[in-house]
Amino acid sequence: MAQEKNYDVVIVGSGIAGAIIAYNLGKQGKKVLILEAGPKVPADRSNYMKTFFKANAKTPESPYPPSTQDPNSSTADNPLGLPDPGKENTPRYTVLQIDSWRKPKQCYFDYQDQPGVLSPDSPDANFAFASSYERIGGGTTWHWLGTSLRFIPNDFVMKSKYGVGVDWPGGKAFYDKLVPYYEKATDEIGVAGSKQQLDKLYSGFDGQQTFGADYDYPMPAIDESLVDNDFTTHVKNMTIDNTEIYTTPTPQGRNSRPGERRQCAGNTNCIPICPIQAKYDATVTLARALQTGNVDVLYQHVASNIQVDVDTDQISGIDYITYDTQTGDSTGNGTVTATKYVIAAHAIETPKLLLMSKNNVNFPNGVANSSDQVGRNLMDHIMYLSWALAKNPVYPFRGPLSTSGIETLRDGAFRADRSAYRIEIGNEGWQWAANDPFTTLADFVFGQNNSQTNAAGTGPQGKSLKFNPDLPDNAQLFGDALTQNLNGIFTRQIRLGYLIEQLPNPKNRVELSDTLTDNLGLPRPKVTYKIEEDYVRNAFTSAKEVSTQIYDALGATEYTKPADKPVFNVTDTDKELTSTNFQYKGENYKFYGAGHIVGTYRMGTTKENSVVNERQQTWDHSNLYLVGSGIFPTITTANPTLTIAALAINAADNILEDLNKTDSSIT
Ligand SMILES: Cc1cc2nc3c(=O)[nH]c(=O)nc-3n(C[C@H](O)[C@H](O)[C@H](O)COP(=O)(O)OP(=O)(O)OC[C@H]3O[C@@H](n4cnc5c(N)ncnc54)[C@H](O)[C@@H]3O)c2cc1C
Ligand code: SF4
Repeated sequence: MAQEKNYDVVIVGSGIAGAIIAYNLGKQGKKVLILEAGPKVPADRSNYMKTFFKANAKTPESPYPPSTQDPNSSTADNPLGLPDPGKENTPRYTVLQIDSWRKPKQCYFDYQDQPGVLSPDSPDANFAFASSYERIGGGTTWHWLGTSLRFIPNDFVMKSKYGVGVDWPGGKAFYDKLVPYYEKATDEIGVAGSKQQLDKLYSGFDGQQTFGADYDYPMPAIDESLVDNDFTTHVKNMTIDNTEIYTTPTPQGRNSRPGERRQCAGNTNCIPICPIQAKYDATVTLARALQTGNVDVLYQHVASNIQVDVDTDQISGIDYITYDTQTGDSTGNGTVTATKYVIAAHAIETPKLLLMSKNNVNFPNGVANSSDQVGRNLMDHIMYLSWALAKNPVYPFRGPLSTSGIETLRDGAFRADRSAYRIEIGNEGWQWAANDPFTTLADFVFGQNNSQTNAAGTGPQGKSLKFNPDLPDNAQLFGDALTQNLNGIFTRQIRLGYLIEQLPNPKNRVELSDTLTDNLGLPRPKVTYKIEEDYVRNAFTSAKEVSTQIYDALGATEYTKPADKPVFNVTDTDKELTSTNFQYKGENYKFYGAGHIVGTYRMGTTKENSVVNERQQTWDHSNLYLVGSGIFPTITTANPTLTIAALAINAADNILEDLNKTDSSIT
């Protein structure tokens, strides 16, 4: 198909990174084309809402195509009816695939076999990568939570200050350069927050100035939840690892008052979808980009190859495949060209596309991959979850999913010995941690005890777990007795989530599957994922101890269930192989994914140690830029997207500068 227009820039991906670049270049009169693999952004979100209501598992991905479950595919071996990713055009990993992580007909990723016979505490074990993403118009922010924290200056100097990981190019100077871009990013997202409420926190991290002097958030802070108040009242005068801890309201990408979109109505559905779009998602920026009149989007266009000019090593075009969403058939292919190219397909699909583009004479290992760093250093915030019942009712489920956190443990001298973490205070009861309200309801209807509240037992503090001592074990209730009992439990449920910093490890990587493809014949990602370092495992030990101390301070009863012992050595069937359980120092743990997929095409100081320079331009091809969290050299201690947005605005400035240089050399 012949290209109708001349474009200055082609961008692959319409998530927040791609949309921000398109908008910033479009505003400056540059002509931009976005290739988007997924379907078009719907005119309203009611169809996604309907899919969500119908889904029997409410996962982050459940509202979005391709469907996470297909009742027609349900078999004894595949009870959830996970669709075959080999028959989907833009399949992507979903959390439902974690337990079917080695079944190629149910899991999009291909995984390495386990390396021989392993003990339960072996650091050599391969795990499922537990974080997911979307391939739809607008990308993964459709189901993000909206937490919009900045990184802190010491995040950029992990090697020189703490002797682990790597420094970002320029170290703390990189942070200083980011500050004005952080301000622009909070404006673009419309973050609700209060600089005053965060001043004590940020001045405590080495006394660094973290906000521009005249800057404050564009929206007033969202009210803290009633759950937060319980923590704020009781987590006082506590010191962990020589660091004072206290709660801080979280800056968040949702409207605290009516603006271009509606005000948050506080009904705790932010993941997987905000029904009223009070929460920011990238379709907001994409719409702004389209309104410039300079940006075009081609949906259902899957980038399949990046062409490289053999004489200049410049990118000369991007090949794509189109498909029909109804029949699933491929409908054509073509090539788009521009002066500059940006890949914004997120940290699994971007390296996959670079590695797929290997039919180039000078780059047989893939585009931008002379360093062999493409796909390596895959990271996530591996999460430890703990849960408890508060002493008195605290009424979770009112307000967004999380409105505060304990941030002070994001930095300190301990960071030389173990990973730092931030602690997110959940507002969704035990929904994430223990599959409630369903588990507890089923317990008191069917006379079970999966929630541990319906029979005698003791928790991590040695306290009795049975909620109502007057009831027999495994009680079956109905009518008022049932509702009163459930009300007593649901109104007290609290949860903490520890976002544990993972180290860059070149063995953790995305490669191309040798055997598995999607419906378009494109290779699926092969993922190797280990948690090798005691440095990271030590943080789980710490998180477990800290949780119990915090619940003690609240007078709460902790219910955190120890994970099952990991199993790595089943030879005759893959059914019981452990996907996310590990053992450390005699304790069993389960880790959860945070959705913060980072590090697979990292930024660095040399062509040998990295894929892009600090301008986010590939070392190998000066007209190719890579954006998104794949460029982060380390995962740091905060959720990534505000930094993705800040760096995307910075990349747009760099691309504009380079485009203007090209223009003036032509005239
Ligand atoms: C459950 C969950 C909660 C989260 N909560 C938070 C939070 O509170 N705070 C935070 O900071 N972060 C959060 N995140 C992370 C956040 O969602 C991501 O960091 C962010 O959305 C990534 O944006 P991106 O533009 O880089 O990628 P994406 O938004 O994933 O966009 C990539 C785009 O590229 C397209 N694409 C992929 N392959 C191709 C191809 N071959 N051709 C054409 N197009 C292609 C995709 O369809 C997609 O539209 C969360 C993530 C999850 C999963
Ligand atoms: S609490 Fe409800 S209205 Fe507010 S952002 Fe979340 S889903 Fe949207």
